[in-house]
Amino acid sequence: MAYIGRFAPSPTGPLHAGSLVAALASWLDARAHGGHWLVRVEDTDTPRCPPGVAELQLAQLARCGLHPDGPVWVQSQRQPAYEAVLAQLATRQLVYPCTCSRRAIEQAWAAQGVARSRHAELLYPGTCRPDGLDALPSLSSPSTLPPTPPAAPHAWRLHTARALAATGLATPPLRWTDRRLGPQAQDVLQAVGDFVLRRSDGLWAYQLAVVVDDGAQGVTHIVRGEDLADNTPRQILLQRLLGLPTPQYLHTPLVLAPDGEKLSKQHGAQALQLNTDTDVLSALNHAAKALGLPAAEGTTATEALARWTLAWKARLQSRA
Ligand code: GLU
Repeated sequence: MAYIGRFAPSPTGPLHAGSLVAALASWLDARAHGGHWLVRVEDTDTPRCPPGVAELQLAQLARCGLHPDGPVWVQSQRQPAYEAVLAQLATRQLVYPCTCSRRAIEQAWAAQGVARSRHAELLYPGTCRPDGLDALPSLSSPSTLPPTPPAAPHAWRLHTARALAATGLATPPLRWTDRRLGPQAQDVLQAVGDFVLRRSDGLWAYQLAVVVDDGAQGVTHIVRGEDLADNTPRQILLQRLLGLPTPQYLHTPLVLAPDGEKLSKQHGAQALQLNTDTDVLSALNHAAKALGLPAAEGTTATEALARWTLAWKARLQSRA
C-alpha cells in the first residue's frame, strides 16, 4: 500500500512535549507501514511565526532522529495554490466575501439573545451570506456570476450549506471513523457554520491550506493531536468539494500540563530539552509513554525508535 504521512507543525514556538507525541506517532505509523513521512511548515499565520522557529523545529526533529523522507514544504510559499482553489470555489459560488468583524458577529448573536462561540471558531450568523440568514438556501436560484468582493477588507467564507449539498453530504451529521477514537459525527452547519477560508487580513486559514497541501502531497494518513479531531469534518467537506481523497485519520492523546490544561505553545509549554543524548532519549520516552509504548532505557535514540517501530507494527497487526 502506498503510504504518505506527515507532521505539520505551526512554527509559533519551539516543539514541546505535546508536539513530540504527534511527531513520533506520525513517524512510527509511517515507518510501521513502510511508508513515507513528510514534514510541512504551517506558517500561514505569519505574524504568529517568529523568524527562525521553523528551522529550530526541524533541528529538534533531526536531533530526535526523525528525518523527513522528502523536501520540507513551507505554506507561506504556497500562495498561488491557495489562490487557485479559492478562485475555483468562488466560480462555483461556494464561497462569499464577508466584511463582518469579530465584534460585529458577536453583536449579531447578542441581538438574537445568544452568546455563541465554539472554541476559537465563532459560529457565523450569516450576515454577509448572499441568501441572508436562511440556513438552507435554494440551490436552484444562485446567480451565475461569482461573487464580487467589496472594496473594504473582507474575509472569504465557505457557504457551508451549499457546500454540503454540492458534495451530497447535506443530511447531517457528517460521519467519519478515527483509527483511535472510533466512529465520529459532526453537524458542520450547526457546529461551525460558514467557516473562514481566507482572513480579511489576507492570511490563509488553516482549514484551506491543510486540505490543499495534504491533497497536493498525496497524504494518505494523517496522525496528529486529538485537539484537531473536531476540525476533521471541515477538512473532509473541503476534500470532497475539491475532488480530493479523504486520508485515514488517527488522533493521538494529548499531553496535559500538571494543572490538567492542554500542553500548548500558547500556554507557555516548555521547549524540548535536547542538549545531551540522555535528554533526547528522555524526551522520546516521555512521548512514547503517552502513546502506550514500553520504556526504552539505557539505549540509543536510534535503537529506541527501532524497538517502537516493531511495537507499532505489532499493534497494527493485532488490530487488522
Ligand atoms: N499546523 C497544525 C498545528 O500545529 C497541525 C496541522 C495538522 O496536523 O493537521 O496545530
